[in-house]
Amino acid sequence: MTRTESPVGTAPPEESSASKPQKLFDVHVYRDWCKGCGICAALCPKHVLARNNEGGPVVVDPDVCIGCGWCELHCPDFAISVRPRPSTVAGAEEE
Ligand code: SF4
Ligand code: SF4
Repeated sequence: MTRTESPVGTAPPEESSASKPQKLFDVHVYRDWCKGCGICAALCPKHVLARNNEGGPVVVDPDVCIGCGWCELHCPDFAISVRPRPSTVAGAEEE
């Protein structure tokens, strides 16, 4: 038996973009719930998120989001969500 999964606490795996179409994601911050701790921006492996002058997250480059979910998973206030962009979900434009 081989282990291919990363142990808990290590960096999220990079997704290979070879031989499959890129799936895009929408990243949404619920401003009323966000306390500007900066955890999401600090953990994002693709630098999708930056911080504004108050420390809150700003989505600066959503097209490079790999949907790893680390920002959503680690937000202490459930203030950020990541969802597949509907137009890029397999079958969304198929008849
Ligand atoms: S981790 Fe959550 S509360 Fe902290 S800055 Fe990001 S969205 Fe806001
Ligand atoms: S899902 Fe991953 S890549 Fe996308 S914004 Fe969150 S931490 Fe960054």
